[in-house]
Amino acid sequence: MSRNEWQEEVVTRLRGVKYPGFSRDIISFGLVQDMALEGTELKLKLKITTPDPAVPEKIGKEIRDAFKGYGPVKSVTIETEVAPPQATAATGAQGIEGVKKIVAVASGKGGVGKSTVAANLAVRLAQSGLKVGLCDCDLYGPSQALMLGCWEGVRVEEGTERLVPAECHGVKLMSMGMLLGDDSPAALRGPMVTRFTQQFLRQVAWGDLDVLVLDLPPGTGDIQLTIVQTVALDGALIVTTPQEVALVDARKAIAMFRKVNVRILGVVENMSYFIVPGTTQKHEIFGTGGGKKEAKRQEVPFLGEIPLDPEARECGDHGKPVVLERPNSVSGKVFSEFGNHLSKILFLSNSS
Ligand code: ADP
Repeated sequence: MSRNEWQEEVVTRLRGVKYPGFSRDIISFGLVQDMALEGTELKLKLKITTPDPAVPEKIGKEIRDAFKGYGPVKSVTIETEVAPPQATAATGAQGIEGVKKIVAVASGKGGVGKSTVAANLAVRLAQSGLKVGLCDCDLYGPSQALMLGCWEGVRVEEGTERLVPAECHGVKLMSMGMLLGDDSPAALRGPMVTRFTQQFLRQVAWGDLDVLVLDLPPGTGDIQLTIVQTVALDGALIVTTPQEVALVDARKAIAMFRKVNVRILGVVENMSYFIVPGTTQKHEIFGTGGGKKEAKRQEVPFLGEIPLDPEARECGDHGKPVVLERPNSVSGKVFSEFGNHLSKILFLSNSS
């Protein structure tokens, strides 16, 4: 049997092995680092990030079961590297029952595309088979209802009085703005905002989620701090544009998360370049390389450049994120890759 033949068969069988508690398999999660067939002995190298010793055990058993009765493989040897997830919770912050990972999408400055990134990320993760929630935490300028085209009113769960998220494009959505009429945010000030925010974050009936994406309000003020101190985050994504005015504020956002000991998953640069439609001409309208340089300076991962793309704006305005509506557009492709990459960072490793 040629190398390609047995490898193909092994990969097919491993695709049948699900990561415990998830609908995705260990190949698509990227757990399998190496494989070799020596005679009839299959040697596998796995890398698993988990605090739970039962996970590698379960995976090992399922792998062995997957090769039962397959002639060319009589035994399977599995070498597993288990990396404990990094503890990042801010002091006093708590997890949310039923939610496996909580990620904040933040920016120092408004208008850099933070909500666009959060919406596309949430939809992409849902497309990949994960159970995803998106929480719009921007009390004063919520935009996720518009971006996901979701105008359901808020329902309250009978008995528990918890808020039931709406569901659109496979994503559970809750927005602070859904709770308030058009004029009321201006009436909420200081300590009232803090109390409202804390209560809101604890009162949503998310159910079981693989990932909850929090779309934070822009800036690094009291509301942002309240959020990151209320909910135990698995990490934060910082969205910026390439120019210095945005980078200065991105720096402040990174500093805020560091202060409360939250892991920075990385910096994403939005509106990095514009491709003239029908050509390959690339224009770097807001300059080039700013996000990458800043990420290097701050010693955090740089997660990529998202183009300025009119299709991303149009789709956002029409309530259908580009990754869903036009996956083959310039930005649709980049958002897809970005979502896949982030999923790996979240579920597989402690670094990018
Ligand atoms: P923020 O949440 O940072 O305030 P938004 O996500 O609301 O920013 O984006 C501001 C505006 O810019 C929106 O109209 C959005 O559709 C548009 N936008 C964001 N990212 C892109 C992009 N990559 N290409 C084109 N338009 C974009």
